[in-house]
Amino acid sequence: MRCFLLLIPALLCLCSCDDKSTAPPAAPEKTPAELVDSPGFNGHNAYAHCAAICKLGPRYSGSAAYEQQLCYLEKHLHAAGWQTARDSFAAPNGVKMCNLRAFRSTSPSPLLLSCHIDTKTGIAPDFESADDGASGAAVLLELARVLSHEQVELVFLDGEESFAPRMSETDGLYGSKFDAARRGSTLPRWQINLDMVGGRNKTMAIPSLDTSDFMYAQYTAAVRALGLSEEKWTVWPGAYLDDHVPYLEAGVDSLNLIAVFSGSNWWHTPKDNMSRICPRSLHESGLMTLQLVNQLLNAGAADAR
Ligand SMILES: [Zn+2]
Repeated sequence: MRCFLLLIPALLCLCSCDDKSTAPPAAPEKTPAELVDSPGFNGHNAYAHCAAICKLGPRYSGSAAYEQQLCYLEKHLHAAGWQTARDSFAAPNGVKMCNLRAFRSTSPSPLLLSCHIDTKTGIAPDFESADDGASGAAVLLELARVLSHEQVELVFLDGEESFAPRMSETDGLYGSKFDAARRGSTLPRWQINLDMVGGRNKTMAIPSLDTSDFMYAQYTAAVRALGLSEEKWTVWPGAYLDDHVPYLEAGVDSLNLIAVFSGSNWWHTPKDNMSRICPRSLHESGLMTLQLVNQLLNAGAADAR
């Protein structure tokens, strides 16, 4: 991930996750030993998935831990009734990569939910990359349990991270570039990308320069509908290089749900571990995504009438 900062955002409020309206059902605040059966999205389940993924160790492209992560995701997606497909490819330097897609219908879906599941190489042997990667996968996996729409497809992307220390136009986003190109003319109408969505004190900041007026209206409507803090769910006055960009450039109306990370002391360091992750934060991100899914599919249904 690389950000193009145009202005310092005015609202960098490090609030705690205390919105009562979006609190997950009562459960222990610490890691739950097992997943719980819950009628709706449950942040504690997302937390358990995040912890299980981090326990695999660094999940860089082509590694054994990356393969184990794919198996973990497939197991839970299949249990929730989703079909899956692996799309294998190679980066220009020959590193093997693999995106994982999940769908309930083989017909093209109007809405794509995405996250990246690779971790940056060369950080540390115990690098968990809990927020930068695992948090998005954890939210999508818990969403898969409660999401029955056939109009939604999930994609867990490889190769978001660059091989060089910093991402560039030509190094990074390998999985999303591959997937957007692979779809040819059958692109989704909308995409929501999740990245760094589980931090304990996160401030979400969608990139204003990458967000259409329509998507901005959907985002602000969802924030209001859920009673979330407008100081914690805000807008970054710039653009990001992230997995929404290849779809955006292909004509998809995309929304990148991402927390402020630039200037932090944890991003791409061993400090990005489970101690940063908060069930309630994951819960908020899950509810926000669900709200957006419902709004977008309703908008699509209204257009069809
Ligand atoms: Zn990263």
